[in-house]
Amino acid sequence: MAKLNAVNPDAGVVLLGICSDENSSFMKGAAEAPEAIRAALHSGAANLTSELGICLDNHPRFEDAGNFVPDAGAGGFMAIEETIAAILHIHRRPLIIGGDHAITYPILRAVYAHHGPVNILHFDAHPDLYDELDGNRLSHASPFARIMEQGLAKKVVQVGIRTLNAHQKEQARRFGVITHEMKSFASESFHLPFGGPLYLSFDMDALDPAYAPGVSHLEPGGLSVRQVLSIVHRLSVPVVGADIVEYNPRRDLHEMTAMVGAKLVKEIAGKMLSGK
Ligand code: MN
Ligand code: MN
Repeated sequence: MAKLNAVNPDAGVVLLGICSDENSSFMKGAAEAPEAIRAALHSGAANLTSELGICLDNHPRFEDAGNFVPDAGAGGFMAIEETIAAILHIHRRPLIIGGDHAITYPILRAVYAHHGPVNILHFDAHPDLYDELDGNRLSHASPFARIMEQGLAKKVVQVGIRTLNAHQKEQARRFGVITHEMKSFASESFHLPFGGPLYLSFDMDALDPAYAPGVSHLEPGGLSVRQVLSIVHRLSVPVVGADIVEYNPRRDLHEMTAMVGAKLVKEIAGKMLSGK
């Protein structure tokens, strides 16, 4: 294996949209999310300062690299991996706006090549551990099965889960994935069961549809925005990269989910840039 790179908690953060929804099983539209979230971020309805006091406007270690539109098929996944690798190569940390959750697999291939296996905090209504869905092993319902099979992560802890069926329960057991189901989740006492380096993967449907109706898979009984922010703010390990996926603008009401996505960009970038 090539020499791995140490984590630099002061490395700059690159915001990049990845416009891909070809592996969405139920509904398309997530490819349109990056532009909508970026528009909400710069809408003038709010400022660009995170609750931790980091302002993204002209921040010397924050840059927006725009959007990347991968080709369909295997070549698209390879291109996503190469694009993330290029960001890591210049010692920046990627903050990705998806796109559907399928993109997390090629992202993690690049993160693994650069840092070795990382720990993952995964927010989602769904475990995304299907061996395949509708015959598609690259489905947005399968990224964490691929990641664990290939040893790209040391550990995955999942928060927000409320769709754990028998197959995915068995997959979680097989891969040693730690699954926190909503039915018994206490966000105030939640703490990471491992150290860094950490990759944060945020599926917008982890949130209750009352907070984030603009998703393809509405699943009632989810997290509040404040519960999520509280967990993000309390992270005390280096974050090497993050994604915010599965926002579907075609389903949104008054751009309210776009604004939640923009808030998450601010708070996750702010956390990454706060050096904690
Ligand atoms: Mn997901
Ligand atoms: Mn989901």
